[in-house]
Amino acid sequence: KKVILSGIQPTGIFTLGNYLGAIKTWGQMQDDYHCCYMIADLHALTVRQEPAKLRKQVLECYALLLACGVDPQKSIVFIQSQVPAHAELGWVLSCNTQFGELSRMTQFKDKSAKHPENINAGLFTYPSLMAADILVYQADMVPVGEDQKQHLELTRDVAGRFNNVYGNTFRIPEPYIGKQGARIMSLADPTRKMSKSDENQNATVSILDKSEQIVKKFKRAVTDSDMEVCYKEGKDGINNLMSIYSVVTGKNMDEITAEFAGKGYGDFKVAVGEAVAEELRPVREEFDRLMADKAYLEQCYREGAEKASRIANRTMEKVKRKVGLIG
Ligand code: ATP
Ligand code: MG
Repeated sequence: KKVILSGIQPTGIFTLGNYLGAIKTWGQMQDDYHCCYMIADLHALTVRQEPAKLRKQVLECYALLLACGVDPQKSIVFIQSQVPAHAELGWVLSCNTQFGELSRMTQFKDKSAKHPENINAGLFTYPSLMAADILVYQADMVPVGEDQKQHLELTRDVAGRFNNVYGNTFRIPEPYIGKQGARIMSLADPTRKMSKSDENQNATVSILDKSEQIVKKFKRAVTDSDMEVCYKEGKDGINNLMSIYSVVTGKNMDEITAEFAGKGYGDFKVAVGEAVAEELRPVREEFDRLMADKAYLEQCYREGAEKASRIANRTMEKVKRKVGLIG
């Protein structure tokens, strides 16, 4: 079986975007691949975090992964900072990544524009750590959203160069193109993607929102002054709602257009809200059950870190030998 690595930052409760775009498919890949799933808490430190809140979110996000269908018996589910090899390899790789390469990363440009008060070195070298996350497991494939494509390209460049300089060390990872999750846009500004760190409560649907809240948020979703429910260029808001409805119900765009022909946006928005609320209800119930059993969660993440470390340390020993460190 091929090895897959994927991660999510504990920067907040997952949004509908994270769920439909990524986490839901993580559960579906577990039988076909050796999956390594991590809570990327080291990456979260690139933005200022409140310590107590971060600690709480790490645990919540871990529970959320399980609630979304990730199975710690089938996959290696761990917390990044509990596997020291990530940081270790991250350093070695950052010494093999060029300033110019990192300067071209659009996420760095975006995030540093958004947080001009805290443009720290970690934010800049984030892609080196991400490369370490992937390469340390010799991952064959990485499922990446649009927003991470550039970072995976850099990972491949860095790994290839390292192999050339020091001899074959890393497997070069491919982007995982499978049943792609949808790219979900913000409900408040459908030209921007939905992000869990968005402060505008109306922009995102959290996967733990109550059913009534979800419907309410969809009712408020920004659309256009048109009346027709159809998928068309320029109708960003409606296009987004249609793709959400499509992923959740399995209906295609033509079927959706037919279903709402002659009806207004109001009816459509309620239908999308209700469909999403039904989809998320079991996730929320499972999350509540898991959070009531902290001992079980701790056992899962400790075992996950142990399994992950065994693989990661093997790569790290090889890297140390190659670059001339005493292992
Ligand atoms: P942050 O605002 O903290 O960056 P985020 O919502 O962008 O949060 P990440 O932790 O950066 O979430 O990404 C986790 C996973 O979710 C990645 O695989 C990413 O591609 C995917 N993802 C994030 N936002 C969306 C979205 N709007 N639609 C689909 N997939 C998404
Ligand atoms: Mg992001």
